[in-house]
Amino acid sequence: MYIQYGSRNDLNVFGLINGNIYVSFKPIKKVEALAIAYGRVIAIGNNNYVRRIVHELGGEVIDIGKRTVIPGFIDAHLHLDGVALTLKSLDLRGTRSINELKSKLKDFVDRNPDLEVIYGRGWDQELFIEGRWPTRYDIDDVVDDKPVILIRVCGHAALLNTKAMEDLDILRSKSKDVVRDEKGIPTGIVKESIIDIISSYVKGKLVKEYDKYIHDAINYLLSQGITTIGYVSADIKTVNSLLRLTREGKTLLRIYAYLDLSDFEKFLSFMNSPIYSDYVSVVGVKVFLDGSLGARTALLTKPYNDDPQNSGQELISVNDLTKLMDKAFSKGFQVAAHAIGDKAIDNAIVAYERVRSSIKRSDIHFRIEHASVIRPDQIRKLRELDVAVTIQPRFIISDWWVVKRVGTERVKWVYPFKTMKNEGITIGLSTDAPVEPSNPWETVYAAVTRGSLENIELSKYTAYEALSINEALHLYTYGSARVLNVKDIGKLLPGYKADFVVLSNDPLVTKPKELRRIKILEVWIGGLRVK
Ligand code: ZN
Repeated sequence: MYIQYGSRNDLNVFGLINGNIYVSFKPIKKVEALAIAYGRVIAIGNNNYVRRIVHELGGEVIDIGKRTVIPGFIDAHLHLDGVALTLKSLDLRGTRSINELKSKLKDFVDRNPDLEVIYGRGWDQELFIEGRWPTRYDIDDVVDDKPVILIRVCGHAALLNTKAMEDLDILRSKSKDVVRDEKGIPTGIVKESIIDIISSYVKGKLVKEYDKYIHDAINYLLSQGITTIGYVSADIKTVNSLLRLTREGKTLLRIYAYLDLSDFEKFLSFMNSPIYSDYVSVVGVKVFLDGSLGARTALLTKPYNDDPQNSGQELISVNDLTKLMDKAFSKGFQVAAHAIGDKAIDNAIVAYERVRSSIKRSDIHFRIEHASVIRPDQIRKLRELDVAVTIQPRFIISDWWVVKRVGTERVKWVYPFKTMKNEGITIGLSTDAPVEPSNPWETVYAAVTRGSLENIELSKYTAYEALSINEALHLYTYGSARVLNVKDIGKLLPGYKADFVVLSNDPLVTKPKELRRIKILEVWIGGLRVK
C-alpha cells in the first residue's frame, strides 16, 4: 500500500520553501513558503523568512521545487460506506441502452465469480435508446442464480432481478414503492423505502472484514486530495470502525459524521452530546425531506413539467421535522436536511423558524443538502436565518434532463450557485459520492464550466451561475469547513491545521477544460504525509 503515515514524523517543526502556495482563496493569497509546527501552520512568507524561523526552532526545510500547494479538499457531503460499497460494485454511469447494461452486467459477473450478490449503481433510463424503464426480466436473462441489485443514478430507485426480489420477499410486498405492471405484477423496479432495506441486505452480503472495507474507501478518498469529509447518513457500526482505525493509527482523514435518523436515536440512548475529536467526530443527524428530481420524488411547489399530476413526495412532516430539530439542537447537534425541491426547502424553513428562537449557539446549526430548485425569496431567507447549504456542482452534468423536469419558467431556480454565493449564504462544496465521483476536480470542473462543454441545456439558460475557479476552490476548502463548524481548517494561515495537497499544476492558471487533468502529487494532514 502506498499510504505511509508519518514519513515526516521526525519533523515536528519544518518548512516548505520554494513553492507556489495558496494559503487562502478568498482573498486570494499566495506565498513562497510556510512553516509548520506540531501539525499547524505557524508562519507564512518568503523563503528567507521561513528558513530563518525553522532554523531558529531547530527544524528542517523541504524544497518543493515551485510546485503548487493548496489547502486539502473538504467534501462536506458524501457517503463513506457508499463509497466503500462502490469500490466493490459495477459502475453503470453513462450506460446508453438496456443491452449495454446487460453486457456490462455479464462482464462484471464473469470477472467477480466470488461475489454472493451482484451490486451495481448509476443507470439512468433517460439515457436508454429503448426509451423505457428496464425490468427484472431483462436482467434475469443474464443472471438468475444470484441476486442482482442495480441502483439508479439518483439513489432513490433500483432494478432487481427475480432472485433478489425473492430473497428480499418483495414479490409479495404491498408497498407503494414497488412498481407494478398493469396486471399488478412487480416489474423489478423499487423506490424510496425499499432502498433502505436493500442497502443493509447488500452490505451484509458483501462486507466480510468491515474495517478493511472502510479503510479502502478512506485511502481512496485521501489519494484524491480529500483531507476532511462530512460523512452523511452515517451509521454507528461505521463510526465504531472509524474510531478503531484511528486508534490503530491507520487513518488521519478528518471525519464529521451525521447519523441517519434511526442510528441517531440509538446514539442518543447512550450519548447526550456530540463527540468532537481531531479525526472522528459525531456532530449531527441527517434527515430526508424529499426524494430526487431524477425519480420525480423531489417535492415541488408546482407539479413536474413532464408529469403534471405529480409534485413529488414529502418524506417527513413539518411537525416531525420541528420535533427532530428541537431535540437535536437542544443537545448541541447539527441537523442536515436533504431538500431538493422548493417545497421541501419551504418545509425546512418553516420548521427551522419555529425552533430557532431557542438556539443560543452562534455557529451553523442547520444545513440544507442539495437545494437544487431554490427560489430567490428562499435564498434571501436562508441568508437571513444563517442556514448553510451544501451543493454538488457535478449534478449539473448528471441531471442533463432537468429543464424538461422543471420547465423553462423554473429553470433559473436550478443550481443557482453564483446567486447563492453573492447573497452571502454559507456554502460547502461536495460530491454526494458515490452518487457523483469523489474526485474533486470533477466537481470544480462542473462548477466552473456548468456543463457548457457537454452542451447541457441548463447551461444555456443559466450560464451566469457558473463559479470562477478560485470561488469554487474557496467553497471547497474554507466554505465546507464553515458548514462543518470547524474553524481551523480550509486555509493555510498561521494557526490553521497543516492539511494540504501538492498539485501537478496551478489550477488558477489552468484552462477550465484542463482542470480534470491536474494530478494530486502529495497529501498531508496535520503536517504528516499520507500520500
Ligand atoms: Zn447524499
